[in-house]
Amino acid sequence: MLIDYHLHNHFSSDSESKTKKIAEKAVKLGINEICLTNHVETFPIGGGKESFSYEEASARFAKVKKDLEETQKEFTNLQIKFGIELEYVEEWMDEMNNFVNDTDFDFLIGSVHEVDGVNISNALLCDPLYSKTKEQYAYSKYFESMMKMVEWGNFSVVGHFDVFKKGGVRYYGPFEPEKYKNQIIPILELMRDKGIGIELNTSCIHRECKELFPHPTILKWCKEIGIEHYTLGSDGHKVGDIGQNFEQALQTLKNIGINTISTYSKRKPTKFQISEF
Ligand SMILES: [Zn+2]
Ligand SMILES: [Zn+2]
Repeated sequence: MLIDYHLHNHFSSDSESKTKKIAEKAVKLGINEICLTNHVETFPIGGGKESFSYEEASARFAKVKKDLEETQKEFTNLQIKFGIELEYVEEWMDEMNNFVNDTDFDFLIGSVHEVDGVNISNALLCDPLYSKTKEQYAYSKYFESMMKMVEWGNFSVVGHFDVFKKGGVRYYGPFEPEKYKNQIIPILELMRDKGIGIELNTSCIHRECKELFPHPTILKWCKEIGIEHYTLGSDGHKVGDIGQNFEQALQTLKNIGINTISTYSKRKPTKFQISEF
């Protein structure tokens, strides 16, 4: 049993063939289950502020779901799950609560991508913040937003827990989790109390910061604190990204003594022994 639970297909509502290509590639790699987790918000073509509305998201994700169901019919040896990557923006969260509760997702990733309106999850866009501020300011603000998102809590796992290091490594050097332990531990404790899991996001192992999200030290804290659920995701935006660096991520988990990965159906998690993968 092998899964990829963080995949983007930004054209999924309009293009069945692309979903089919993702599914074909997954089967080729021996992946048994994938979850499409497109962004809740929309990005204007040519730049500008992203936006979220209940109506737009409901209409778009209804199309995504139909596309996934159509693709599923062609694949008997691959489970295709209906997911989403949520974005924490304080003023959106009431409406997002309604949207999430009214849509029958299997799995939801909660992510923070912005600090002070700057996209810090993209190494090419983070400069306006990182060139002007100290690491302590940028990373602490990120964790403050993450804490608020976990307090909100209407999702399955936290995505790319320390994604800020992707571009941050160029400005501040390697990320040292110990410096933020007093912010990270309460977040993990609240995640445990709410049954929220954490994803192992492999998108940067071979580029930019060359590390897993989260840092192995944070995974150790997850185990000590008693986080129950771990998922595996490539954060693939291209078909070639699917399943990237999974062996290394699973090895890191095992080294820490975490032996299970979880899958989700209608938001209910099921654990699998990593040895079964
Ligand atoms: Zn993301
Ligand atoms: Zn993503």
